[in-house]
Amino acid sequence: MRRKEKRLLQAVALVLAALVLLPNVGLWALYRERQPDGTPGGSGAAVVPAAGQGSHSRQKKTFFLGDGQKLKDWHDKDSIRRDAQRVGNGEQGRPYPMTDAERVDQAYRENGFNIYVSDKISLNRSLPDIRHPNCNSKRYLETLPNTSIIIPFHNEGWSSLLRTVHSVLNRSPPELVAEIVLVDDFSDREHLKKPLEDYMALFPSVRILRTKKREGLIRTRMLGASVATGDVITFLDSHCEANVNWLPPLLDRIARNRKTIVCPMIDVIDHDDFRYETQAGDAMRGAFDWEMYYKRIPIPPELQKADPSDPFESPVMAGGLFAVDRKWFWELGGYDPGLEIWGGEQYEISFKVWMCGGRMEDIPCSRVGHIYRKYVPYKVPAGVSLARVFTFTWREDIRPGDPQHTKKFCFDAISHTSPVTLYDCHSMKGNQLWKYRKDKTLYHPVSGSCMDCSESDHRIFMNTCNPSSVTQQWLFEHTNSTVLEKFNRN
Ligand code: UDP
Ligand code: MN
Repeated sequence: MRRKEKRLLQAVALVLAALVLLPNVGLWALYRERQPDGTPGGSGAAVVPAAGQGSHSRQKKTFFLGDGQKLKDWHDKDSIRRDAQRVGNGEQGRPYPMTDAERVDQAYRENGFNIYVSDKISLNRSLPDIRHPNCNSKRYLETLPNTSIIIPFHNEGWSSLLRTVHSVLNRSPPELVAEIVLVDDFSDREHLKKPLEDYMALFPSVRILRTKKREGLIRTRMLGASVATGDVITFLDSHCEANVNWLPPLLDRIARNRKTIVCPMIDVIDHDDFRYETQAGDAMRGAFDWEMYYKRIPIPPELQKADPSDPFESPVMAGGLFAVDRKWFWELGGYDPGLEIWGGEQYEISFKVWMCGGRMEDIPCSRVGHIYRKYVPYKVPAGVSLARVFTFTWREDIRPGDPQHTKKFCFDAISHTSPVTLYDCHSMKGNQLWKYRKDKTLYHPVSGSCMDCSESDHRIFMNTCNPSSVTQQWLFEHTNSTVLEKFNRN
């Protein structure tokens, strides 16, 4: 009887030991499954065992992060307190009360957002802390890699560019910012020349580089990356505002796994009144449709993290704002330098990361605001287009699609203000008849109006013809003016 009991006990002990210690079975594997990159704790301190816990040396080594590195609270409490006391235009991310004089078209012309309003708001304005409350108690590695912050710009507004830089300087631990590299993509606006150099001379960590010709954002980012000295490179757009404690949560994930590319949550700075708001829904991840349009789609409940403030995987990034280990970026080959102006680069880098054994994450505790423009203010040189190649057939209807024009649906509009939709081609002219006019508008004889596009909500719609409106200008490539004239006469 006793011997049996002893055997039983021995067997139980053996099974327990196997469960705890053997790799790829039992608790060990369970534990690793919960931590896909093999780094316990996500970005928080939650599951790091205290020193001395667990007697097995192998277990100890794996469980202790970064060779037993300590974690710390990176919040800059003083600056948070100072920010909370600020009052004035746009402070706390509130909407600026616009007057009729500021509501005019002219205010948007050069930047695609209201520069009059931007100019009225402090370069050091405060933002609301809209992070998940759990972010307040998250601790990150005490020793983090530093980063070069690369900001490409092309004809950016003065106050929007400077506010980007100020927000980074105000809300980043100085020891983590190796440098801020402003890369001018051949701007021609005066304020971006000597005045910018004089201004930035006051900030020793800021450098200005310039391209020798218009390169587009991809090669401009690459130029910045090529001179960067930081352990990590962080890309931002030239009209952003970094929010509270945005940087440590990004660098922490890279420190734990250098092949992780991380993106902050991108908040919306309104292009009219500069109010600062979250995008609809945080539990969303990057995706794209068959036309390569980037979109955010909800994360299925079973894949959502128990703590919504924890980092989560994202298949594709939005594009402009992310941090990456500098060497890993170059191991990935950087961006394809053949990419023009903008668009598509987010897929290229995203696919490479996943295919080369890296991962990509969105970091809810890191938030950066971005001004989503009303329309694209700068010229995109003819012949180079964006992510989507959009070809039009040479006929009286317009068939979007592949170069062989095999598609059988046409642009169709029913009234002078209706949306432009895709409908089966009927070859009966009428609603599907369009004229390619010399002033680069697309005229719709049936309604007597022109095709217009809304940058803010991605719609194509009919509008009163206004050839001076940039949103009614379409690029016609390889047109034959004789044929075009004959076509428009008939
Ligand atoms: N940019 C650039 N060269 C270009 C076009 C854009 O350097 O030819 C910069 C631009 O100033 C911004 C970033 O690239 O900092 C992303 O462009 P944009 O903000 O226009 O894109 P969006 O955010 O509207 O998608
Ligand atoms: Mn932008």
